[in-house]
Amino acid sequence: MPAPSPPSLATQGRVSIDNLSVSFSSRGKDMLAIQDVNITIKPGEFVCLLGPSGCGKSTLLNCVAGFVKPSLGSISVDNELITGPGPDRGMVFQQHSLYPWKTVLQNIAFGPEVTGRGQGSPKSTAQTFLRMVGLSKYADYYPHELSGGMQQRVGIARALANYPRLLLMDEPFGALDSQTRLMMQENLLKLWRDLSITVLFVTHDVDEAVFLSDRVLVMGSNPGRIVKDLSVSLSRPRNSDTTVSREFVELRKTCLDLIRHESLKAFEMHN
Ligand code: ADP
Ligand code: MG
Repeated sequence: MPAPSPPSLATQGRVSIDNLSVSFSSRGKDMLAIQDVNITIKPGEFVCLLGPSGCGKSTLLNCVAGFVKPSLGSISVDNELITGPGPDRGMVFQQHSLYPWKTVLQNIAFGPEVTGRGQGSPKSTAQTFLRMVGLSKYADYYPHELSGGMQQRVGIARALANYPRLLLMDEPFGALDSQTRLMMQENLLKLWRDLSITVLFVTHDVDEAVFLSDRVLVMGSNPGRIVKDLSVSLSRPRNSDTTVSREFVELRKTCLDLIRHESLKAFEMHN
């Protein structure tokens, strides 16, 4: 039996999303992508945003990243209002966004070089995080010489090398095969535990959300909003045995029913 997870040691990365609404102008019409979302995330929590395609998950994450401005409401991290992107929030996208002309190590060192964040030289910081994602041997490779899973691991190392207080991930394993995905999930949980970092992770995959999270926030669409805040108290560390436990199966079913209900509503609205 795995032991119950100890409380997180994280002291920063508290997120407060208050009365957030986002509207976009599209084809001459205003559409409400997110309506009145309120979320509080504790330092060190692992929270997943789960919802059907188009429900506003990326929009919400992009607001926290500072790429999208709220139409109403506000977001703060550790009581600092978010007004734009910053190295205190590391972002990992579904498709890696590594510089193709830089080596793996140069890609990871770039953030610390520009921001001055980190301990020691940018190169040694990059080496530390490359080791954490298990790719030390690939320091001098170029991104195109790596598999999709390896590229994503470099993307994660790059985001972490700035010592962010918050790691934002938008379907980072969505393009990977299921076996690679499971290994990536376990590796991510290990990094999260070792670094005591807050993670906000977007996925449309129910199993992934339940497997990773302390909390799953289920979103509905039209407009995007939180329909359920589910606590996941599955013991950690989690592994393939976790996914056959009764609690996992029950939580999975709860999420699937909610998602199905929301997807059906969205599907019908488009006709
Ligand atoms: P998800 O990530 O859950 O699939 P998104 O956040 O990408 O959903 O999109 C939510 C809604 O907002 C969709 O209807 C999408 O078309 C719309 N949307 C997202 N970004 C923009 C934008 N920049 N301009 C106009 N509409 C957008
Ligand atoms: Mg998205």
